[in-house]
Amino acid sequence: MGQHGGKAQDGQSSSNVNRAYDVLKKLTPKACGGPRLEEQACRRRSASACPDSQLPATLTALNLALAFVQLLIDGKWEDAAGSKTFEDLDPRTGEKLVDVAEAQAEDVDRAVRAAKKCLPYFPFNLGYPPQAYDDGPWPRMTAEKRSRVMFRLTDLVESKTIDVPGTAQHFRYFGGFCDKIEGSTIPVAQEGFTAYTLREPIGVVGQIIPWNFPILMAGWKLAPALAAGCTIVLKVSQYTPLSALRLGELALEAGVPPGVLNILPGKGSVCGDALATHPLLDKVAFTGSTDVGRRIMEGASQHIKPVTLELGGNSPVVVCGDADLEAAVRGAHEALFFNMGQACECGARLFVQEGIYDEFVRRSIELAKNRKVGDPFDETSTQGPLVSQKQVDKVLKYVELGKKEGAKLGCGGGRWGDQGFYVEPTLFYDVEDDMAIARDEIFGPVQVILKFGTIDEVIRRANATEYGLAGAVWTQSIDTMQALTRGIKAGTVWVNTHHVMDAAVPFGGYKSSGYGREHGGAVLEHYTQAGRCAYPGMLLVSKGRCRLATQDQRSAASYKQQEQSPMLRHSCPLPLQTKSVYVPLPKSKEQRSWVIM
Ligand code: NDP
Repeated sequence: MGQHGGKAQDGQSSSNVNRAYDVLKKLTPKACGGPRLEEQACRRRSASACPDSQLPATLTALNLALAFVQLLIDGKWEDAAGSKTFEDLDPRTGEKLVDVAEAQAEDVDRAVRAAKKCLPYFPFNLGYPPQAYDDGPWPRMTAEKRSRVMFRLTDLVESKTIDVPGTAQHFRYFGGFCDKIEGSTIPVAQEGFTAYTLREPIGVVGQIIPWNFPILMAGWKLAPALAAGCTIVLKVSQYTPLSALRLGELALEAGVPPGVLNILPGKGSVCGDALATHPLLDKVAFTGSTDVGRRIMEGASQHIKPVTLELGGNSPVVVCGDADLEAAVRGAHEALFFNMGQACECGARLFVQEGIYDEFVRRSIELAKNRKVGDPFDETSTQGPLVSQKQVDKVLKYVELGKKEGAKLGCGGGRWGDQGFYVEPTLFYDVEDDMAIARDEIFGPVQVILKFGTIDEVIRRANATEYGLAGAVWTQSIDTMQALTRGIKAGTVWVNTHHVMDAAVPFGGYKSSGYGREHGGAVLEHYTQAGRCAYPGMLLVSKGRCRLATQDQRSAASYKQQEQSPMLRHSCPLPLQTKSVYVPLPKSKEQRSWVIM
């Protein structure tokens, strides 16, 4: 493990190893091959003698993730101001796993300043001499070199510890974008002028992510911002701080310069609030609940920061009478129970057409009852714990509301086991639109089934929500599919599937589910801005540098001013809401008709 100390000092590395070892001793042995193996493996790792491939995957991931529990600021691992820490709990037992540094407002300030000093210039004159900020290593690095660093990071993520394919895919996809972020040349009406746009990094970005899929959420946020040449302060949730810290270590190892990526575990009300309102940020990117998203927007408005928001959902799944029944039952089941229902795009409201409703409900109850709840490190478990006691309380509160408001309970409804944060797989049917369990985002393993009659009716009811993140349609008719995918007001609609996502396909919300898009070229619009330049005459390129053909010094000076003035920078607004529709390709000859669309 010594090698993973990276830029940290040796003393830090060995205390990380000891801390990891202490924690590992407490973990249940069954997934790791017993305590002796844990001990041996840990010791071997600390001597750097054992390649990852010889260790059980689970152990390797835990071992390394648990080693980094401090703040990452300016390339160094540091304690929080006042040595504040919070307890990271094991959701399987509710017991403390490890103490993690809890970032305070002072730490946020240090991290933002570290990120700011990595920029090539300092556009706002807030009392700092501009030359102090003129040597930024990241946006000045050639795009090709930046791309190589990101590919190195992709390899580290894939091959070492955090083998989450989606995260690696994001770094690979956006690593390829570094040298393809282009402006345009624009023919203008005024005679004697030419104009072009430069796409420049927007600057220092404050990013705040939630606890569900913490490593993937970090990948979604970091990859495009790094590709664009931005510098970053990432605030991770107090409930899941470890994997992003480990990712920070890998980023240093890959060659991301110190200060470009700063990572702060901490509480939303303290660290998150201080970050969202920090005056030196150039942009805020938030993923989390709609309520906190509103607050983030308000906070960022104090300093007129652009904000992008990936917020909550209450996604409809519409199963039509002509759907492949077994596939739809299973698909809708996974749409909800995947990750214990803790997914923003989960199929939260399941509308089933009346002809197939009773049979559909019967099969869905059977599936839900058959879920095997247990330790997620046991490979036979299909449902693990929720993230926290707070989340358990929230989910059980909705279960009680569901019962009180008259929904029929098909199965579950209680806590599971006598320790940890487990909730039974729960299913309600005959649910009405105005019941709390249909209206609100529950974010837990509670399937909610409603009955519908016609397609027009279900489109109206599916859209009768403040959310518009995602939706799914199960049908074998192209006409019905077209009507529903166009009718459902949501950023992503799946056809006969759910949860499929790709770094290349825009993802984001309509309505109160957010503003802006993750993934694809669309997200880069949020991390760059188009600097607009107009020159008299034409541009000559000499020895890789641009010179004005007319040598008009006055114009050159005004260009410089334009480039640096925030007032004259134009961020590129998204022209329209983008909706992504995922359609499976045909598997058999009979289904060829799908290809024609
Ligand atoms: P929260 O909104 O509670 O928290 C999200 C992040 O914001 C956390 O890091 C949290 O910190 C922080 N935070 C909380 N309060 C503040 C504040 N006042 N100022 C600044 N930051 C703050 O959401 P959850 O973590 O509970 O995540 C679940 C939610 O996220 C669901 O609504 C889900 O739909 C949504 N989500 C949306 C996604 C999308 O792509 N649209 C993807 C994934 C989730 P801390 O946790 O430390 O308090």
